[in-house]
Amino acid sequence: MSIMELANVLEKTEEEADPAVMELHRRDVSDEQLRRFERYAAEMFSAFGMEFDSPATVDTPRRFVRALLDATAGYEGDPKLLTVFETECRGGPDCRLSQVIEGPIQFYALCEHHALPFYGHAYVGYIAHEHIIGISKLTRLVRLFARRFTVQERVGQQIADALDAMLAPHGVAVYLEAHHLCTQMRGVQEASPLTRTTFWRGEYENNPALRSEFFVACGLQR
Ligand SMILES: [Zn+2]
Ligand SMILES: [Zn+2]
Repeated sequence: MSIMELANVLEKTEEEADPAVMELHRRDVSDEQLRRFERYAAEMFSAFGMEFDSPATVDTPRRFVRALLDATAGYEGDPKLLTVFETECRGGPDCRLSQVIEGPIQFYALCEHHALPFYGHAYVGYIAHEHIIGISKLTRLVRLFARRFTVQERVGQQIADALDAMLAPHGVAVYLEAHHLCTQMRGVQEASPLTRTTFWRGEYENNPALRSEFFVACGLQR
């Protein structure tokens, strides 16, 4: 993305972002607990119909528990996220209107109502003031909040608030679209609907032109 390349050239110093914005939840899960959870999972799967007498399923409870732990690793944080760069605010309309936009960023989350996946794409935009963040960090930020037990609305709010707190930018835009397996797996609909959510901070809140430029740049204006 050319704006970002330009911004990277202008970068001067690195700073630590405040980890509080990431709303972390340190997890101390012992091996003994994991083995107990595997027994619970095995009991449930078996009651629901899974047969454990084949090589294919004998390890399924262990894989299930590990996969769930891994899919919610966003609570642990991401040390590579903790840097932001200084740039030059040149003031004037340029600083207030130039957007940095990244997307689609693929994400996978677990709905906290059913512990089943919802997954889709995030588009994140911001208008830098004195700080910028590496483009790959936007992907990390999306995944940090998605890989939890959560809801789509909260993922978007957390991304927007974290960027706001880390960069103090002129504005933040977040658009998420996702398929929710908790409704789709159990429903009878043939089409698979997309749930769409938008979050605006700063300049985006009162500037419809910025919002439509964001959607056009994301390729979402059809
Ligand atoms: Zn659900
Ligand atoms: Zn500025």
